[in-house]
Amino acid sequence: MPLKIRTESKEYKTMKSLYYRMNLSAEEKQHYLNLKKGYEGEVKFDTLTNSLDSKFYILNDLLLKSNNTTFQIDSLLIAQMAIIICEIKTYEGDYYYKEEGFYVCKNNKEITNPFHQLQRCETLLRQLLQKQGFDLPIEGNLIFIHPEFFLYQAPQNEQIIHSPQLPNFIKSLSMKPSTLNGNHRKIADSLLNAHITDSPFSQVPTYEYEGLRKGCKCGVCDSFDVVCGERRIRCMTCGSEEPIELAVLRCTEELILLFPKHRITTNMIHDWCKVVDSKKTIRRILLKHYKLTGHGKYSYFNTVITG
Ligand SMILES: [Zn+2]
Repeated sequence: MPLKIRTESKEYKTMKSLYYRMNLSAEEKQHYLNLKKGYEGEVKFDTLTNSLDSKFYILNDLLLKSNNTTFQIDSLLIAQMAIIICEIKTYEGDYYYKEEGFYVCKNNKEITNPFHQLQRCETLLRQLLQKQGFDLPIEGNLIFIHPEFFLYQAPQNEQIIHSPQLPNFIKSLSMKPSTLNGNHRKIADSLLNAHITDSPFSQVPTYEYEGLRKGCKCGVCDSFDVVCGERRIRCMTCGSEEPIELAVLRCTEELILLFPKHRITTNMIHDWCKVVDSKKTIRRILLKHYKLTGHGKYSYFNTVITG
């Protein structure tokens, strides 16, 4: 197990829910699709670095602050002689590099130079580690994970890994010396401690309960076309089935994510899930998983996990 595994961010999960439950603007939809693509690319990269787990400390998806600047590291490996950081890009299609600029071939549009981004990341991480008395060298890599990405006139002095080079890149990492000691562990712990949970970059549109589409989405294909049987929910689009209990819990967690301040009641989940007719069933499930607080009509389920 890596020391820090990648999970779907709060922003990504919220945008995914809103994508299916409200009318997002074209820009907001694109934002969700970019988050999705980014996350999927990073997960794909993780499947490759998993094999290095026994050799190095692996910390995925770090959000750190140095010199009052917040920055993100997609994947960080602590090896014996160096800290290896990987910035994962999911660009597809043809691009070219010209005079420190990064351009899309089809329209000559300039985009943020990912090399500069990586260098900035390296500098900020170096400063952060130096402040804490660590001085392991940092090696930065830009990983272009999409198989159909190509960069014309790619600069020679940068560490760029294209998709077909990934197996060799992982192999070269696996050859690196990997005798880790207490100091390496201290670096890992200090980065884990410094990690920020709530991203300041998060861009989620405003929404209200009334404006959202209610219903239980299929856990596999996100379709709302589900029916409730005696014990299971069945999706009419993809045919998958899920025990009612799991579906209700999934919907409840989604509601808590969207409205962390709302008090969860049986009626609310009944209205939110739509598909489960029996309030008794919903109440039984909620009682099993959450603590009932208060009395009578003022009671609600305490969904705050207290360790
Ligand atoms: Zn489905």
